[in-house]
Amino acid sequence: EDTVDELIDLIRQMDFPLANCRYLVATHADADHVQGFVRAKELLPSAQLVAHPHARRILESNDRIAAFAEIPAQQISINLPALKIDRDIDEGDRLELDGAGLDVWHTPGHAVGQLSFRFGRLLFSGDNIFRDGCVGSIDAHHGSDLPAFIRSLQRIQGSGVEWLLPSHGPAFRNDRKLLQSAIDRLDRYQHMADFGTCAVDWPLLDDWEDELARGVHPTS
Ligand SMILES: [Zn+2]
Repeated sequence: EDTVDELIDLIRQMDFPLANCRYLVATHADADHVQGFVRAKELLPSAQLVAHPHARRILESNDRIAAFAEIPAQQISINLPALKIDRDIDEGDRLELDGAGLDVWHTPGHAVGQLSFRFGRLLFSGDNIFRDGCVGSIDAHHGSDLPAFIRSLQRIQGSGVEWLLPSHGPAFRNDRKLLQSAIDRLDRYQHMADFGTCAVDWPLLDDWEDELARGVHPTS
């Protein structure tokens, strides 16, 4: 929000006529990614605000929990302006620019409405994965989904895209090993109580039932 004017100044300095700015893209509905759009809309009135339908639902209903604007346990309560999305975009769409285009990928997992954008060898990869191998935070109240997250990371890994441009931190190479270590970690989370609200099962309970049925004593 505080940096919108600065960012738009940077665009101006590149000699890019602001009237040609076509889109303001909400890669997903998180407050830290969309807070500045009210101001950006004022400065770029001809740009369309575009988002995935799931992100639209969160933003237009001002769902502060799903947008990470309200996290009472961490005393986080930040401004989330009500937003009106001009146009839905989804998997298979293309954002047309002069002589080029961005292919829209729906890459859910961190958030339900998480989008990525392919531009040749580059992928604007949102909060899917960062240079240190960390991924966007996993939280059921935020709509995170571990099996979907794994599929999104596998897609990026096998895509042939060479460079990832994440929403946070520096750009980095689409390194097979780095992606695989994140995928393997998320695969384990699916079966661990650590991420219980997103886990798909907990093998310990089956093991225990089996031990009870076989009459195995826990201390033996
Ligand atoms: Zn996010």
